[in-house]
Amino acid sequence: MIVVRGATVMDGTGSVPRPATDVFVRDGRLASLGPALTVPPGTREVDGRGTWIVPGLIDVHVHLDTPMVFQITDEEKSRILDHNPRAFLYNGVTTVLNVSSAPEWIFDLRARQQAGRVLAPRIFATGRSITPDGGWGSRHGGALTDAVGTRATVRQYLDMGADAIKVIIEDGLGRSGAYKELPDDMLRAAADEATKAKRPVVVHAINLHEYKRALAIRPRAIIHGLEDPIPDGDRLIADLRAAGVFVAPTLSLWDAFGSHERHPERFDDPVLHGSVPPFLLASMRRPEYRAVEKKRFLDVARMDAYAWADRHLPIFKANTLAMHKAGVKIAVGTDAGGPVGYNFQGYNTIREMELLVEAGMAPIDVLVAATRTGAELIGAADRLGTLTPGKLADLVILDANPVADIRNVRRVRSVMQGGVLYDRGVFDARAVAPSRQ
Ligand SMILES: [Zn+2]
Repeated sequence: MIVVRGATVMDGTGSVPRPATDVFVRDGRLASLGPALTVPPGTREVDGRGTWIVPGLIDVHVHLDTPMVFQITDEEKSRILDHNPRAFLYNGVTTVLNVSSAPEWIFDLRARQQAGRVLAPRIFATGRSITPDGGWGSRHGGALTDAVGTRATVRQYLDMGADAIKVIIEDGLGRSGAYKELPDDMLRAAADEATKAKRPVVVHAINLHEYKRALAIRPRAIIHGLEDPIPDGDRLIADLRAAGVFVAPTLSLWDAFGSHERHPERFDDPVLHGSVPPFLLASMRRPEYRAVEKKRFLDVARMDAYAWADRHLPIFKANTLAMHKAGVKIAVGTDAGGPVGYNFQGYNTIREMELLVEAGMAPIDVLVAATRTGAELIGAADRLGTLTPGKLADLVILDANPVADIRNVRRVRSVMQGGVLYDRGVFDARAVAPSRQ
């Protein structure tokens, strides 16, 4: 039993912050919230005066198995993968939706987290992406060739306990056509099997054409933003809203392309140093290392993805705001870990929140996006996403007001997951000795 006394509580519903509020936690769940609570003897008292408490953050598009860069040894890769879960917790992210890892690996990690054998966010996970041979993402393995195989594979992932199915429609960034687009029969086969099992489908789509193909299968979510301006009179946004499709714009992904090239001072952020293993950050600071990373990534994209991202980020932002204003539910997702160099695990979840505010969303709405909406997207709103009595006690204690300035979400003091309160330093990349050295 723990009571945190006297904090300002933002409960994740978007309602007015509650000052001077106590939060009482028992048996891993939120028991009660209110002023001057009476609690049972033996309850641990924590002084929360001068702090702000928000629900644990939820990132709905992560890759825990990807190391952000190409130029690493296997041994370095395993050190990064060991650290990735802590990078999320360090940044207050207590739940993730992991899309497209090897199923044996990710479901094992999920089980170990659930059993309390590893410090990690709560993990919801798909199997590998549904993508055709020669499709985007097919280099990660598990590519499919036809609808029959697609059905069998989706059923296999569902049998293994997949929380959702991920489908990639894209034919290459910027309509490059460099990759094979998912054929319609495979798309429908995947959606059909997931629907039969009552599991959600999340779709990787980016342009208008792909968005409309996605909409046709009524997915739970599209987990990238929209790169095209929406023509006057087009019904896309109204249709997304009517179908209840969530969108996670991953603005931080496009922003990551080259961001630290243009802003090398970003390498100096102390929160970044707590988020990324020191050896990796030291490599990234070297211009020649970054030049090789960039070349390797552009080879994979088969186009100048850096210039494309620069041109399209304003459109992604404008579409995000238009969707939000029209009532489409916006969630926070980063695509963290992908090989663009700066798509930092955990750290970029808060970068995504900053960019959603830059796009024009109110900070309080962005907090809802990062908490309640994320929980709704993954189908766990009955136990996660808001600070409501009876739900799991996942929360973040901040040293500054996130509604006054969304960047204050970086000022994590401590993180509670399942009623266990951790000082942020426990997850610090500089403090935790690498487990394999
Ligand atoms: Zn991704």
